[in-house]
Amino acid sequence: MQTGDRRGSAGNGYLRTAAASPRLGWNFLKYNFAPKSARPFPPRAICVYVTYRCNLRCRMCGIWMREPDLPPPGELSLEEFNAVFSDPLFRHIEYVNINGGEPNLRDDLSQLAGLFIDKFPRLRTITINSNGLPFARAVSNAERISRLARENGIRLSISVSLHKIGPGYDEIAGVDNAYSRVIRTLRALREMRDRGLFYLGVNCVVTNLNVFDLDQMLEWSRRERIPANFTFAEVRDRFNNRKMRGAIELRNDGREALIRFCRRLGEKKSLFNQHAFRYRELAGMLESGKPRTISCHYAMGSLILGSEGSLYYCPKSKSLGDCRKRSAFEIFYDRGNLKYRRDILLQATCPGCPPYTFNRFELEKDLLKYAGFLLFDV
Ligand code: SF4
Repeated sequence: MQTGDRRGSAGNGYLRTAAASPRLGWNFLKYNFAPKSARPFPPRAICVYVTYRCNLRCRMCGIWMREPDLPPPGELSLEEFNAVFSDPLFRHIEYVNINGGEPNLRDDLSQLAGLFIDKFPRLRTITINSNGLPFARAVSNAERISRLARENGIRLSISVSLHKIGPGYDEIAGVDNAYSRVIRTLRALREMRDRGLFYLGVNCVVTNLNVFDLDQMLEWSRRERIPANFTFAEVRDRFNNRKMRGAIELRNDGREALIRFCRRLGEKKSLFNQHAFRYRELAGMLESGKPRTISCHYAMGSLILGSEGSLYYCPKSKSLGDCRKRSAFEIFYDRGNLKYRRDILLQATCPGCPPYTFNRFELEKDLLKYAGFLLFDV
């Protein structure tokens, strides 16, 4: 595997990179001991929804109903992204998640990745969430973006959605032959992964439609040598899925099965299996309703940019303002928005918000909690 000057290792490299960072101690102090009333630190991570268009018709996500197949007039162009990211708010970005909709539906995805590299001088990691379709785009973009990343010493990680093993996946994804087509993409990407071009994983969103199939997914993941990450479907305005509750909200037997599954994953402790920490927390939250204790990088000061220019503090945040009309810095630090962040998000929403990541930033803050989990299971 080739490495560059800004790049960490692949796989569980987030934790290895964090552990090796000379700023680890400083960040630990900064995130744990800053006064609660202080303004959020400048964001180091951003999730960019590059489009809300999607080529699947999933039964737990209605994003595809929001937008027509053609780029809507409101979708930011490359030039508009360039203008938005010239704002000083983005100077400290180290991590970009490219998300959607389906990012590969943009004709200019690799140029966008190049723009992120140009605009964010501290960038160290790019991650892409994709459904893996269409095949040719998914593979050619992975190849192009991985080349750009390598040339600039940036770590690349690609996560492909896969919610069930076998043709039953077509029923969840709502299109014919989705399973066979996604598997074709995954095998092509795995071959590139094996050449060291990027890290590859699958993301399985747990719903009523697959909650009893998770062991099969885990077995597939071992057999195919592609790590699987499990998150839970949620009803959110952004997903336009309020009418899909029946597919999303788990019934009692499904909920119990999920708790057992998370418990088992939470028992697989090892220094570089940070997900065990997260699954143990998920099991506890599901089982007893206990409040979240793991940190959230959004609560530490990350942000989201929507494909139409809206800024959000986190996936549960309301839209804070339009970056095409007002400076992102001003929106992020607007007094009214900060009050909303403190009173509604941090105080009222975070305690019940399940953790779907335990990344480098979260580890920096939760260093002692993670050590306690590894050593004493506390
Ligand atoms: S509501 Fe959830 S995603 Fe948003 S800051 Fe809190 S923990 Fe993070």
